[in-house]
Amino acid sequence: MKLGIVGLPNVGKSTLFNSLTKAGAESANYPFCTIDPNVGVVPVPDERLDVLAKMHNSAKVVPAVIEFVDIAGLVKGASKGEGLGNQFLSNIREVDAIVHVVRCFEDTNIVHVDGNIDPLRDIETINLELLFSDLEILERRHAKLVKSVKGDKSLTKELDLVERLQKFLEDGSLAKNFEVVDEEEEKLLASFNLLTYKPTIYAANVSEDDLADDGASNEQVAKVREYAKKEGSEVFVICAQIEQEIAELDDEEKKMFLEDLGLKESGLEKLIRASYSLLGLISYLTSGEMETKAWTIEKGTKAPQAAGKIHSDFERGFIRAEVVSYEHLVEQGSMNAAKEKGLVRSEGKDYVVQDGDVVLFRFNV
Ligand code: GDP
Repeated sequence: MKLGIVGLPNVGKSTLFNSLTKAGAESANYPFCTIDPNVGVVPVPDERLDVLAKMHNSAKVVPAVIEFVDIAGLVKGASKGEGLGNQFLSNIREVDAIVHVVRCFEDTNIVHVDGNIDPLRDIETINLELLFSDLEILERRHAKLVKSVKGDKSLTKELDLVERLQKFLEDGSLAKNFEVVDEEEEKLLASFNLLTYKPTIYAANVSEDDLADDGASNEQVAKVREYAKKEGSEVFVICAQIEQEIAELDDEEKKMFLEDLGLKESGLEKLIRASYSLLGLISYLTSGEMETKAWTIEKGTKAPQAAGKIHSDFERGFIRAEVVSYEHLVEQGSMNAAKEKGLVRSEGKDYVVQDGDVVLFRFNV
């Protein structure tokens, strides 16, 4: 599961990416971090892990991780091949969700590619390139379908969908806002892997002064929020430059730094968590003396498959899961106390694991 960081040049993508990967390199030892300089493995901040680790005296804490890809170089005309455009667009096609960085900070020293600060124009510039690229894909699909449908009538439905989609996108609407008529269309639509179908978060990159009120007094941010709302996307306010500085600090210094800015946590942490949930991911937790660990599953995963994340034997020999919610466990202070109160449930193979479930699997070997 990967997120791609996109945006026009000079909006702060690399600065954001560097602070993300820096945070990753600092807090966990992931040897695969440096395989590709454009890919960063980033731990998902989860304060529940520290609480559980303390409760169980764990020797190690292992957070969930997600991958971010720095997709630089998207410019106006990319879909026509400008500036290696097509290569960047195909990089975006490989990610599961998008973090779209828009510049809302003023800085006369840093040139804006289109002359002045106008995040809505920037968003539309990028989205237009994504739309062009999607339309190209649909055109090719359409040509193929027109040929094959003659010998295979079952393709009529797909052809009809593609034609409606083409109209919709030509009007400037994004594929994620297209209303399908049934589940079959939903599946087909997902299978086209359109860029404008990918879930998106807008990261409004503001100056340091705008951090304290979360960008509320920055009218550019207000415009981005309004735009995103129509599209059904979330907006996060960050200051990439400050994040890069924060990423250099140790935990204690970081806390003080944030307090000075009037913040509880950095925008980066919020952004990472939102990215995780944008991917449809949640964490269940295991905790003992050896380690406290967050395990990543897709929302809706049942207990045996969740167990399979730990080891395939756990899935194959699954008997049941002993589950207590994180809140109940913390409320009671220990596993035994939670058990006495009847808060530790025994769940079978149809149980859908929830975010924050603290789980012990029983299985046959
Ligand atoms: P990219 O082209 O989108 O990857 O942009 P960069 O991350 O390389 O940033 C372009 C320039 O803007 C660099 O000089 C950064 O230091 C600067 N920059 C990035 N974020 C901020 C910010 O939040 N505030 C200010 N003032 N400058 C920033």
